[in-house]
Amino acid sequence: MKKAGKVYLVGAGPGDVGLITVKGLECIQRAEVVVYDNLVNPALLKHARPEAELVFAGKLPKKHVMTQEETNAYLVKRGLEGKIVTRLKGGDPFVFGRGSEEADELRQAGVAYEIVPGISSSISAPAYAGIPVTHRAVATAFMVITGHEDPTKAETQVDWENVAKFFGTRVILMGVERIGKIAGELMKHGLSGDTPVAMVHRGTTPHQKTISGTLATIAGVVEREKFQPPAVTIIGEVARLRDKLQWFEQRPLFGKRIVVTRSREQASELVKRLAELGADVLEIPTIAIKPPKSLAGLREALDGLGEYDWLVFTSPNGVTAFFREFFQKFDDIRSLGPVKIASVGVATTEKLREFHVAVDLQPEEFTTEALLAKFKKDISCENLKLLLPRADLADERLARGLEDLGAIVDDIDAYQTVPDTEDRTGHRARLLAEGADIVTFTSSSTVNNFCKLVDAKKLSTTFVSIGPQTTAAAEANGLKVAIEATPHTIPGLVEAVLKL
Ligand code: SAH
Repeated sequence: MKKAGKVYLVGAGPGDVGLITVKGLECIQRAEVVVYDNLVNPALLKHARPEAELVFAGKLPKKHVMTQEETNAYLVKRGLEGKIVTRLKGGDPFVFGRGSEEADELRQAGVAYEIVPGISSSISAPAYAGIPVTHRAVATAFMVITGHEDPTKAETQVDWENVAKFFGTRVILMGVERIGKIAGELMKHGLSGDTPVAMVHRGTTPHQKTISGTLATIAGVVEREKFQPPAVTIIGEVARLRDKLQWFEQRPLFGKRIVVTRSREQASELVKRLAELGADVLEIPTIAIKPPKSLAGLREALDGLGEYDWLVFTSPNGVTAFFREFFQKFDDIRSLGPVKIASVGVATTEKLREFHVAVDLQPEEFTTEALLAKFKKDISCENLKLLLPRADLADERLARGLEDLGAIVDDIDAYQTVPDTEDRTGHRARLLAEGADIVTFTSSSTVNNFCKLVDAKKLSTTFVSIGPQTTAAAEANGLKVAIEATPHTIPGLVEAVLKL
């Protein structure tokens, strides 16, 4: 029997990737085909499976990609093929999203479907502008209206007279270019020209822009500010509360476009911190972590694990790679034996802690030089046997330095770093098209790989580095580093960005 297909009509939320539902996210993770359009944040697509087909069904100005009928037919076709399809729609699929039409086509064709509601821009764009759509004292109801139709034409389906008479907040989606006519119509039906109005462009995203005025003045503000769709318009007393309650556009890094260059596995913490401070973060994975060309060295080392006095870790990736092989061979952490553990810094130490392994030695400053100095000062290295599970291209100075102290060092390839050439989120394309205020570097290999992917010298942007080795690598690539993090950690890097 053929596998039955299913189509999930999923609300992707208004733009902030955090505003998708847990169920919506699961649908993206599970899908064989993801169909999305231009109000959907493409950063959500990174949650799709690597082999999932990503299909753009949006309407770009001028370049008409897929008509609604074509989209309906496409969803039916893939569903009938037995595919798991996730149809992502901006905001909520049933709020002016034509989701109901898609559901009805699927029903008629006998394709199973589910609706996953989303957070509509009609409430969230106002919220991110500091405007509550209801308020106990000033608005006990809100209505959501389409501004799509010309209110002065006879065939309009919106009863503007009743909109004017409504006792609560009026939220208008679409129709930025018709705001003058809409305001005129509302005033004609008796709404005061002093009624507060706010308009929120691309709410909940780093591009959010809010303008304020009154029914009488708003069209002039739109023109003066060259205010563009998509936007949500809020008409009513609640719009005034923005003066007190605005928060999103006030955050310290709001409006700053910052590039994060890390391997995909590690990017999340830095991205999260910068985004929370309001930055528009372009995540450009530059390196992918892979097993080394040969695992023979690591396997041999594990066979003779009992002979080592110290395991020396210089990166979280080294820890992950070491323990992946370790648990292939042993099923008990005690097989580590009495060996002592050294770590270059907090991130590596934290990774070790995930395996419930404590650290015996860690320098105050998180560099391999400081680690070497710490060995020199605290440990008598003569004839000790040390294992360094590291990246294939790691700097050899640490190993040589330890040997100079009399140690017997096995510097082995535990993993390799390769350039990550995929651009799933389109962030690399955005960097090339729009530029960035700041580019962050967190390791010398990310610098080198970033420079392979992008002509970095041509970017007019400020470079920030996590530490001296990374700075040296940037300089070797002809880039001038404006500020270096102290301490050499992700929080230190965030501090450095804030200082700028
Ligand atoms: N289903 C969507 C609305 C689709 S109609 C929802 O529930 O949000 C498209 C209109 O939605 C746009 O013209 C604009 O008015 C509004 N819109 C969608 N996302 C928006 C955003 N992030 N900021 C402001 N307006 C948005």
